[in-house]
Parts: sequence; C-alpha cells; structure tokens
Amino acid sequence: MSVSSAVSCCPVLPSSSKPSPSSQGLGTIAKFASTRTAPRKSLGPDQRAANRATRFALQSVARRLLPDEAVSRCLRVPIPTRQHVDVYHQPQYQSASFGGLQVCGSPWACPVCAQRIAERRRAELARAIEAHRAAGGVVLIAALTVSHTRHDVLRVLLATFLAAVKELQSGRPWTRLREAYGLLGMVRALETTWGPVHGWHPHIHLLLFLDAPLAWEEVTDADRRGWVATFEEDLFEHWEYAAACHGLAMNRARGVKVQQTDGAVMDYVAKWGREPAARPWGPEDEVAKAHVKQARSSDDAADAGERYNPFDLLREVLATGEVTEVGPLFCEYVWAFKGRSQLRWTPHLRERFFPKEREQSDEEVARRHDADAVLLGSLSLDDWRAVLRADARAAVLTAAGTGVWAAVAAVVAGVYAAVAHLGPMAAAP
Ligand SMILES: [Zn+2]
Repeated sequence: MSVSSAVSCCPVLPSSSKPSPSSQGLGTIAKFASTRTAPRKSLGPDQRAANRATRFALQSVARRLLPDEAVSRCLRVPIPTRQHVDVYHQPQYQSASFGGLQVCGSPWACPVCAQRIAERRRAELARAIEAHRAAGGVVLIAALTVSHTRHDVLRVLLATFLAAVKELQSGRPWTRLREAYGLLGMVRALETTWGPVHGWHPHIHLLLFLDAPLAWEEVTDADRRGWVATFEEDLFEHWEYAAACHGLAMNRARGVKVQQTDGAVMDYVAKWGREPAARPWGPEDEVAKAHVKQARSSDDAADAGERYNPFDLLREVLATGEVTEVGPLFCEYVWAFKGRSQLRWTPHLRERFFPKEREQSDEEVARRHDADAVLLGSLSLDDWRAVLRADARAAVLTAAGTGVWAAVAAVVAGVYAAVAHLGPMAAAP
C-alpha cells in the first residue's frame, strides 16, 4: 500500500456524544497550575540528597570530558560582576538551589540541568495531558525508531533520522492522516541510548493529542485496541516511507509502537528525564558492568537488548575513575545533540493549553527559580571556592533544604576545615 492511501482504512466508530476538546474549551487548565512535579514519594530525603550528589558528581565528570563546553562552568562559575553566590530555599518541597552562577541549560550534556529541565517540562506535559483528557480528548504515545549498526556515526545517523522525522510530518499524506484520526498536534521527545552491540540508537517518542472521532469512553476495550492498531499500522507505513526517503530502514516490530492506555502515557511522562530505578555501571552494579564489558569483546555472545542512556556513560567513568572508551562516546553524543530540541511541540498545540505562557528555552527553564523560593543567604566568593574545592555543592543544597541558614554555615565551616591541608586557593573557581 502506498503512503498516500495508507489512511483510507481508518475505522469509523460511533461518534461521541461528548463535546469535542476544541468545543469544550480549556477552562479546566487552571486547576493544574503547578509548575513542577512533586518529588517522588518513593524517594526519602536521604535518597533525594544522594541523587543530587550523584548528579553533581556526574556533572563534574562531564566537565572533565568537555572542558570547553558550557557544562564545565555550569553552577560553578559566578556570573560576571557578581561578588557572591545566593542560596535559595523552596519551602514547599524542602529543596534548595543556587543563584548568581552561570547555568549551561543543556539537557544533553549536564545531568544537573537535565533534571531541572525535565522536572518542569514533565509538569507541563502532565498538565496538558490531563486538560486534554478532561475535555474529552485522547492521548496516545508512539515510539519511532530505525535500524542502525555500531558502525554508524552518531552525528550522521541523527541528522538523517531527524530529516526522516521532518519528512514524516510534511506533505499531503501526513495531512490526510492527521485529518483521518483527528490528530491535533504532538509533542516530540528526542532520546538516544547506546549499546555495545548495535551502537547508538536515536529515537523519538511522540505524545499524540487526538480529537478522536469516536466515543472513546463508550466503546469497548477491543474497539479501542482495534482503532489504535489501525492507527499504528498507518503510522508505520508513513514512517517507513519517510525513513526510506533518507536511506533508512526498519522492521515492523520495532519501527513504530503505539500505546493508548492512560497508564502507559502517564508512566512515560512520570519517568521522563528521571534517573532509572536501577543504574547500570554504578559501583553497586558490578554484575551488569561486567556483562557489558564482556558484550563489547564478544558480539555474538552479547545481549543485543542491553542499552544505556548517555548519563550511564558518565556513571561508568565515575565508578571506575577512568575515561576508558565510554568517555569519547559521551563526547560524540554531546556534540551530535548540541543545539537540538529535546522536547518539541508542534505549532499551536502548546498555545492551545498554555495560551498566556511563552515557551521558555532550556536555559531559561534551568535558570528559573520556583516562584515561592526564598533567598536563604549568600556565600562569599572565598566560601564558594572552598565549596567547589571540597566538591560540596550538593552538601550545601542539602543543608539549605532544611531552610536553616545555620545548617549551611556549618557545612561551609566544615568545608574550610576539609580543604585547609590543600594550601592557598586559586582566585578563580
Ligand atoms: Zn548545566
């Protein structure tokens, strides 16, 4: 079947008696006014503090690997003309942040900025999804991939892959598919993993917002599954064609996967940008690490499904203290993704849910303090140099999370004692 005819088999199901999302308006948005998601309940304060310390440690690894990139200065170097570093406390979540420092805003290179950006983008996604569903709409999640090998150069593979994604969303066939399924717009999340057998695996997840032409809540599960399966089949044909236009191929099983359950969509949003529950290559996971090293030396014996996200590469360097071969891999990844959008809304979709909120850049999001954050106190540049020298940024924030400045002062006093044996400090951080 040609792509242009791929949408012709869209099934016609009973029309909804509910008003469409567009006709019902978005008055319900107001009740989803939070700008960030709450810390996961499953993580206690100690675990959150440990995760924060790990992110700063991983950022230090990225700094070592990429000394000329902005991540090397992120939350280390004060903004020029500033003579102190501010410490903010956020009472609602008992968290803290720094002010007056340079911020790289890279969701690709910087584990600290990536977490801050993801937290806020995730909250925005959740608000949009909830509002769309409350207005009778449907949200599906689709994963789009292509075949690749470990011999692919990531920069080339990524550029070709994104050209295919652009191809997918252009032309009359795409317009017909959108109209056939009531596709209002979508949010594209760009990601990659790396595996020792098949190399880099750039892929996208699409959150598809549909003004579904069916009574979604009134038909049976079997009807819904059938409708989604047909949509997946049509989307696959479009994607296969778009990818082929750029010399890329895929197999049916992995090219496109569409899920429609509320749980699958919200589970993806909830986990997006968060640390995985299990961390391969962490010092606590020597078994997984050994397995991966074995996989590298023996492709035949390797588990082809073993995949790691880019910050896992930093974790290996952190765990071993050696750059090994994964350090250059991380650099290759950062240079390939630098300047790319991690999360992109199709035109007008975001305005539909947030008509009065300008979309902020990653750097603006990473730099932004919560509206109710309060200035707890300021550190002198000498204090700050000592904090950096002792690698104690996370400890300062953990202390500031209590909302008690004396706790911060105690950490700084301890830092001076800890670095005293290192001799005089350099002037610059
Ligand atoms: Zn950063």
